[in-house]
Order: sequence, then C-alpha cells, then structure tokens
Amino acid sequence: MRLALIAHDGRKDAMIALAAEFLPLLQRCTLMATGTTGTRLTQAHGLIVERMLSGPLGGDLQIGARLAVGELDGVIFLRDPMTPQPHEPDINALVRACDVHDVPCATNVSTARLLLQRWSAA
Ligand code: PGA
Repeated sequence: MRLALIAHDGRKDAMIALAAEFLPLLQRCTLMATGTTGTRLTQAHGLIVERMLSGPLGGDLQIGARLAVGELDGVIFLRDPMTPQPHEPDINALVRACDVHDVPCATNVSTARLLLQRWSAA
C-alpha cells in the first residue's frame, strides 16, 4: 500500500493522533508526505516517509504528479476548512487528480478512519 499523508497546520495534531491509531498499518506502507507533515510523522512515530516540499512550496503538486503516474493507492489529506490557504489551487489540483485517477482520498478524520480500517483488514 502506497499512501500520501498531508495535513494543514490546523490539522497536524489530528494527523499525528490518527497515525498513532493506525501505526501497525502505516509501518507496513510506503509513505510520502508534504514536508512539515512528514517531519512531524517521523518525529512523533519514527515512520519512514518520503518527504516532498512543504505544501505551500509545491509539495501537493509533487504528490499529485506521483499519483497521476500510478504511484499512489490512497491519499489522506486533512484539510483545514476554517483557514484560507495560499496554495488553494494546488490543493484543488491534488484532489482533482484523485478524482481523475479514481484514487481514494480522505479529507477528514472520519473518512480517513474508514479507509485506514479497511486497509488494515485487507
Ligand atoms: P506541510 O504542507 O506538510 O509542509 O505543512 C501541507 C500543506 O499545507 O499542504
């Protein structure tokens, strides 16, 4: 399972908590993440993560490009719906790429939990 993990600043603590819940699964996955999210996941849980640029610097686009060539099986993208993001077009491009290529994309914790539970059982 190849997963991308991205969390906006207001959702990073939620991502760390979610990763704690599903650590055995995530340890078996090939992970990529935007810069700061990846650093936080490694520091908190010792996960091995391929780190892209930070989201506002193009990290979402890098992940979208990898997804478009078939290198990802799922995306957990905890967006902060309450805070305007300078890279909104990049965020939309990544979510669109998930739809174009029919790759599961969870943008909130409840949906992420459903996907991660499903993948844990697979
Ligand atoms: P970050 O990027 O993990 O580098 O904070 C996430 C984002 O804002 O898209």
